[in-house]
Amino acid sequence: MRKKPTSEAETTVLVSSRRRCALCYGLRRDLGQKDGQLAHVDRNPANSDVENLCYLCFDHHNQYDSRPSQAKGFTPNELRHYRNMLYSEIERFGIDLATHRQSSERVFLTLESNSYSSSGVLDLILKNDGDPFNIQNFEAASPGLSLGTWHPRSLSSGELLRAPTNVAKGPPGECIYHLKIRDRSGSTRSFQITVDPSKSPAEYDFLEITSTDSGST
Ligand SMILES: [Zn+2]
Repeated sequence: MRKKPTSEAETTVLVSSRRRCALCYGLRRDLGQKDGQLAHVDRNPANSDVENLCYLCFDHHNQYDSRPSQAKGFTPNELRHYRNMLYSEIERFGIDLATHRQSSERVFLTLESNSYSSSGVLDLILKNDGDPFNIQNFEAASPGLSLGTWHPRSLSSGELLRAPTNVAKGPPGECIYHLKIRDRSGSTRSFQITVDPSKSPAEYDFLEITSTDSGST
């Protein structure tokens, strides 16, 4: 016999999931809010305990309940697993951050100033025009360049990054740097920064070269 979930059970599931579909999340990390329904994990509509309920988008609810004979259908354990992962992610980060994780954190540095002194030091100052991040590694990549003591290690929005660079044969032409950071969502990302102080105004380029999601580790 079909037993409607109590309104308490229904509320618990809607709030815990924030109306995010457990299969959209589990299969492709899609944390978008979805129109959907409460599904019965064991496919028994008489069992409407919170533990047996799961919010699914309409498409996934249909797929889950139809159990095609050919393709391997979704299993209850699989669904429970994704649902529990979703709940703990929402609990851990809150839905704001969970939603933001879909689109990468905005990481952006602009050229604030650069000057070259006769002592052979390029005084490079960059400004954080994006979200806060922590620097894991920062180095000069062009031959003949070596980066002095740069700071700070953790950059809030609007903060300046000072990167004095020793130039072996001055004045400097194109200077390439590699920057590895960890953004607020926990992703490690790498950028290449190119500054050419010999051009006036200096040419500047900030380019993401890899994006590795290590948020779950
Ligand atoms: Zn879905």
